[in-house]
Amino acid sequence: MNRRQTRNLSVTMIVIALVLLVGMGVFAFRLLHGSTGSLVYPWKQTERLPYRESKTEALRLRSINPINAETLASHKEEVAEILRTTGPKVCLTFDDGPSPAITPKLLDLLKQYNVHATFFLVGKNAERYPDLVKRMIDEGHEVGNHSYDHPQLTTLSVDGFMSQINGTNDIIYNATGVKPKYLRPPYGSKNQIMKDTIPMPFILWNVDPEDWHKTATKESISQNVLDNVSDGGIVLSHDLYERTYEAYEILIPQLIQQGYQFLTVSEMFREKGVDAVNGESYRSIR
Ligand SMILES: [Zn+2]
Repeated sequence: MNRRQTRNLSVTMIVIALVLLVGMGVFAFRLLHGSTGSLVYPWKQTERLPYRESKTEALRLRSINPINAETLASHKEEVAEILRTTGPKVCLTFDDGPSPAITPKLLDLLKQYNVHATFFLVGKNAERYPDLVKRMIDEGHEVGNHSYDHPQLTTLSVDGFMSQINGTNDIIYNATGVKPKYLRPPYGSKNQIMKDTIPMPFILWNVDPEDWHKTATKESISQNVLDNVSDGGIVLSHDLYERTYEAYEILIPQLIQQGYQFLTVSEMFREKGVDAVNGESYRSIR
């Protein structure tokens, strides 16, 4: 190798070294700055994440930040997935129906927003309006048992309350082919004998906007729910009153705006990994 060849070789090696350096620099820059130009420290991001996502997940989350119309549009599915997995969830529950005046339009409203609810039916009404019960199931809602004619179950004998419950389960099964899994005892009243005897979990509530109260208005109902709703919560309402229907016309878009998703009671148990135990009472599921 003569001098000239040596020089050429040196130049080639320097060029290769420079290319490697620049390449590593670009790689490091992109790793730190992400595609948005803001600083990203994926390892720190991973530590801060509440659910211990992997570094890849942290990078993916960061890659859709900041959220603006353009990024939302191009990452629609990812955003929906993140909301689905991390957003707050609530059970809307409606008691005492079905009622021919309110239930059909409430079902229309829920359908319009693709919201699933749980209806705790009074057997007597379910017997009278089986098509509405069938419609609930067909449209993805859950149907639960709220006794046959709404007595205080604690005042009845074992035979008395069991016939209220079994009779209603049969009526619902005959209308839909689905057996209710949950009981909502009227007035939330329960005692030890009921807990020991009834082979269903009891679903109570942690938000009662008092839509049954004579002075309730659509504003008072919706405000009460917005003030008290939380992740894993169960909201009590009644598909009996015009004001309740009107309150949900206001409420549903607002809750959606807050990122809420609407799960049936069964879906919430599954989502939260909670086992529903017969005779146990649940005011929320979390
Ligand atoms: Zn009731």
